[in-house]
Amino acid sequence: MRTNRFDGFCDACAGHVAAGRGNLTGRPGRWQTWCLACAPKAPPRAGHEGWHQTPLAALDFETTGVDPHHDRVLSYALLDQPGVELSGLIDPGVPIPAGASQVHGITAASLVGAPPSAEGLRVVLDWVQGVIDRTIPLVVFNAAYDLTMLRAEARRNRGL
Ligand SMILES: [Zn+2]
Repeated sequence: MRTNRFDGFCDACAGHVAAGRGNLTGRPGRWQTWCLACAPKAPPRAGHEGWHQTPLAALDFETTGVDPHHDRVLSYALLDQPGVELSGLIDPGVPIPAGASQVHGITAASLVGAPPSAEGLRVVLDWVQGVIDRTIPLVVFNAAYDLTMLRAEARRNRGL
């Protein structure tokens, strides 16, 4: 939640909210302005379990570059409940730029025997679906990047 930068009207009580005197929630195209009295409130401290105390799962990729729409996944690491860790290499079928290899150390030689994208990504997608089905929060260091890349890879490998 952030301070509203522009004049508006409260989504709850329809009262006028001067710029900088209320709150803003939402996302581009779907912003909601709130007067301070009506602004959504966080639950009281210790009144809930806390996300950090519930089971969590984590996902991370190493890739051929920094463009999530066009680069490819080279490896995955999936952490689930204690004792459940999946990791693997994926052969994307495209060259790995030297700059990317310098970052993560994965080279074409590393990928000898690795499954192709469609096969390797199936493991990742099945695991993510399982996490969603179990309603376990997914923690991703750079979620906008990794999850955009996962979607792009799934689309590229239609049939996944
Ligand atoms: Zn209001």
